[in-house]
Amino acid sequence: MDCIFCKIASGEIPTTVVYEDDKVIAFNDTDPQAPVHVLIIPKEHIASMAEINESNSAVVAHIFEVAALIAREKGLDNGFRVVSNCGESAGQSVHHLHFHLMGGRDFGWPAG
Ligand code: AMP
Ligand code: ZN
Repeated sequence: MDCIFCKIASGEIPTTVVYEDDKVIAFNDTDPQAPVHVLIIPKEHIASMAEINESNSAVVAHIFEVAALIAREKGLDNGFRVVSNCGESAGQSVHHLHFHLMGGRDFGWPAG
């Protein structure tokens, strides 16, 4: 499968690793929308939030633990935002589940 985030997860495509363990990898977004903009992904290929089910949801819980850890490490004490764009309307451009962890500025709501 020609998936850019699978290639990042396997090390085939180099990236700026922020965090990594056997289940997930977190790396800097190449087109940052905030001073801190990290993508956290499962190493397993899951296409989007729409594909989450009982058999693969544990990694999502783990991703949120990692998000809190990275936010602490990056000193995002004022707050941060975690977003997963799912499907066409939300503007998902990479079809491998990923969570944007953004911080270091104020955010509007509702988002775009
Ligand atoms: P989305 O549009 O929500 O699917 O998010 C995809 C994100 O992946 C965008 O913010 C891109 O800037 C980012 N992105 C695409 N290719 C890479 C890459 N090779 N390394 C890091 N981030 C990437
Ligand atoms: Zn993939």
